[in-house]
Amino acid sequence: MSTLSPAIPTESQSSLTAAASDELVLCPHCDLVQYLPRLAEGEEAHCLRCQYQLDARQHNPIMRPALYAASALLMLLLANLFPFVSMAVAGNRSEIRFFDTSAVLFSEYQQVLAILVWLFIQAVPAFCMLAVIYLKAGMRYRLPARIWVARVLYMLKPWSMVDIFLMGLLISFVKLVATAEISLGMSFWAFCLFCLLHLRTFQVLDRHALWASIAPNPPPATEVMAGSTGLEQHLKLCHCCTAVLPLQQRHCSRCYTRVAARLPASLQKTLALLVTACVLYVPANLLPIMRTVSFGEVTDSTIISGFVLMWQDGEYPVAIIIFLASVVIPIVKIIVMFWLCYLAGTSKRVGGKHSGNIYRLVDWVGRWSMVDVLVVAFMAALVRFGLLASVYPGIGAVLFAAVVITTMLAAVSFDPRLLWDKQQPVSDKLFQYQAAEGISR
Ligand SMILES: [Zn+2]
Ligand SMILES: [Zn+2]
Repeated sequence: MSTLSPAIPTESQSSLTAAASDELVLCPHCDLVQYLPRLAEGEEAHCLRCQYQLDARQHNPIMRPALYAASALLMLLLANLFPFVSMAVAGNRSEIRFFDTSAVLFSEYQQVLAILVWLFIQAVPAFCMLAVIYLKAGMRYRLPARIWVARVLYMLKPWSMVDIFLMGLLISFVKLVATAEISLGMSFWAFCLFCLLHLRTFQVLDRHALWASIAPNPPPATEVMAGSTGLEQHLKLCHCCTAVLPLQQRHCSRCYTRVAARLPASLQKTLALLVTACVLYVPANLLPIMRTVSFGEVTDSTIISGFVLMWQDGEYPVAIIIFLASVVIPIVKIIVMFWLCYLAGTSKRVGGKHSGNIYRLVDWVGRWSMVDVLVVAFMAALVRFGLLASVYPGIGAVLFAAVVITTMLAAVSFDPRLLWDKQQPVSDKLFQYQAAEGISR
């Protein structure tokens, strides 16, 4: 896919507005006003200031996402119909279906964990795929309520964790294969295909084309110059549908979302969520995440003791993955988010590009911390041989899930534009850059 720089007129040009075909965009990460030239299929455009991907034009933007989503739903249905995984220990056999991963927990009075797992690996992914089909059909047939479906789709997208669950399955197999015989059912392979198709659906989904099909981007009331920030020109961005709106407008005229120039009380909300995550992190690590029964012997294991046990057993790759996902990532994410809040709240000038890149990285990687919780949920559903061998989730698993959820919410509450607001004025530097580089295809 080739990369296209947005158009920022050079100083030599008399007008600072773009051609009629160019689309006005505001970068959601650094607030820079830019004009996007009409993209050809396969091209993508990145922000000149922070390199955030502003838009990507897909081949056949209606049929491809709809077909991928429909295929993904079919695979999810198949994954629920047939045996998923079976396990044999000392002549005893246990077989589960995909749905049992949450259903067994629910019947064992682990309702909170069961509902979370059901939402993350069944309900949210299925809704996302249905929403994509509905919206794509809506591009042709003008179906009602598309605005609300699109709003919920993009809100729920990070909470679809089928890729993390697949990683959790592989880790569980490595843990179990030394003591038991594991057989993979037809549904397991259907689930693998579902993961791939689900991932591919979001890759080929064209957000700009989707919103443009619902309603055109509202045109700016006044002439807008590219190369300065939205705030400088009394403009703000709708985070939901990417429309550019006048600063005084309260609700988006396209998607009806309440819009603010900067996320309201962003630092306060982020800090409150980070403090909550810190408070929860202590009992999540001290209390058992899992109770194992093996030949009548009961062992409670915390996150750290589980890691130590795997390391002692020589399962180094899995031990390292668990250590990274459950210990390193949450701690690093909490520290980095505190540091970003400090940078955004301080009066000093900060390097917006580096801190912005770090924010995007911790935001992306944070959800992978959920892998240990999903491992426990799956093993609790599968390993059920009474006193011979059984696994039960501990209260630590629920608390750790709460840590991951609060850190994810903290990242969502943080407004990265606060890091760039101290960088004014931007215009001179960008005009020089544009004059030197030109618009490259
Ligand atoms: Zn940007
Ligand atoms: Zn909007």
